[in-house]
Parts: sequence; structure tokens; C-alpha cells
Amino acid sequence: MSDTVLEVVDLDVRYGDAQALWGVGLQVRAGETVCVVGPNGAGKSTLVNAIAGIHPASAGRISVSGADTTSLAGHRVGAHGVAVVPEGRRIFPRMTVFDNLVLGAYRRGARREHKATLATVYDMFPRLAERTTQLAGSLSGGEQQMVAIGRALMARPRLLLLDEPSLGLAPVRVDEVYEAIERIAADGVSVVVVEQDVERALAIADRAYLLGEGRVVASGPAAELRDSPEVRRSVLGL
Ligand code: ATP
Repeated sequence: MSDTVLEVVDLDVRYGDAQALWGVGLQVRAGETVCVVGPNGAGKSTLVNAIAGIHPASAGRISVSGADTTSLAGHRVGAHGVAVVPEGRRIFPRMTVFDNLVLGAYRRGARREHKATLATVYDMFPRLAERTTQLAGSLSGGEQQMVAIGRALMARPRLLLLDEPSLGLAPVRVDEVYEAIERIAADGVSVVVVEQDVERALAIADRAYLLGEGRVVASGPAAELRDSPEVRRSVLGL
């Protein structure tokens, strides 16, 4: 389908002898927000890392806007318009907010546009605009997450992958981060968000996938999945 931004087909991922993903399939259409939920160890981060080219697939196919990216390393996947906000944020603590953000604009097209994109990021996160020269390591956890998201946006992605953006944040900061994600999606960027905070992710997603022990256990419209027995049992503990 021409409006498919991400297609994952029959994906297997291994860590040495241990297989973490088994035949995973996932699709994201243009402008869609998709969430991936599941209990600890289900393989959510592994899936994001495989899509982003951080960890290799051992079988199956990943394509981005029709281009096969299965065997590409991270920076080459980035060239297809994919940006990732990794678990734990991984910003550069001894560099300023500004330098962290500008590093995200490494692609040629993004570099050319970096001033305009930076203005958009500062508009989205005024707290960062007030702290451009502050060392990123001295920011609060929520502000560091804003830097991580801002840095990913600087690449002007068409697909943004977020791995546990709420992890370790105070509830009010989680609200801010999720407001930003909704705004990014409203700007037309396709979003895949992996979350332990299932209610939160389901609330903003169009569609959702439930992973369990490395397999897709259920998928469908987010509102339907929230009420499904599988989700209520395996991740909501109801
Ligand atoms: P969490 O929410 O706890 O982060 P997750 O759903 O993201 O869990 P993954 O981190 O993708 O799950 O882990 C999936 C499986 O792969 C787990 O069994 C985990 O132990 C294993 N695994 C993850 N990373 C590695 C690694 N670097 N080496 C070996 N096994 C790994």
C-alpha cells in the first residue's frame, strides 16, 4: 500500500542462541500513531531496535515507505526518515541543550532546514528554549526527555520511534511528553510508541499491538484493544 510508512513482516530477532522475537508483523500507515504494549521482557525494545537498525533482524523483512531497510545499520535507516528516541534517552550530558539538538540534524536535508526545525522544537518545548546553553546533564529527567525527542525531530523524520518515553518521569512531565507526541503526530509524523504505561499509550494511539513472549498476541484499534481480555490480563493486571 502506498501510504504504508512502516511494514514489518515475519520478523525474528535473536540475541545469540536466545530468540527474542518470533514472526512479528506490524504496519504503520502515514500519519498513524501506533503503540506497542506488553509485559516486561515481551520484546518491545527489541522490536524498536530492530526497526531502527540498532540490532539486526535474523529473519523477516522491514520496509520503510517501500524501501527494504532490513539489513541497514542505524544511520542508513535514518536516511529513510526514521528517528528514534531510545529507552533511557541517551543524550550527551556534557554538551549543551543546543548542541544536543543540532546533532540530530545530521542528514543533509535536515541540516539545511535546522534553523526552522529548531524554532519548531523550541516552540513545542519552551523549557528548552529557556535553557539552550545549559549542559544537558544538569536538566531534570523530563527536560532530558524533551531534549531526546527534540533531537529526534531535528532529523525531520517521517517515522518517529519512542521507547518508553514516560519511564521515570513525574506524572506532570509525562503529560507534557504525551502532549508533545500528540502534536508531533498532528503535524503528520507517523509514530510508534512502546510503553509500560499502557493506558497512556492506548489513549493517544490509533492502533495497538500487544506483544507477549516475543510474539504479537493481539492487535487492532487502540480503543478495542484496551477492552480486550488479553490486554486487561497481561498488561493491565485486571
Ligand atoms: P522491558 O519493558 O522490560 O524493557 P521489553 O518488552 O522491551 O521489556 P526486551 O528488552 O526487548 O523486552 O527483551 C526481550 C527479550 O530479549 C527478553 O527476554 C530479554 O531478556 C532479551 N534481551 C534483551 N536484550 C538482550 C541482550 N542484549 N542480550 C540478550 N538478551 C536480551
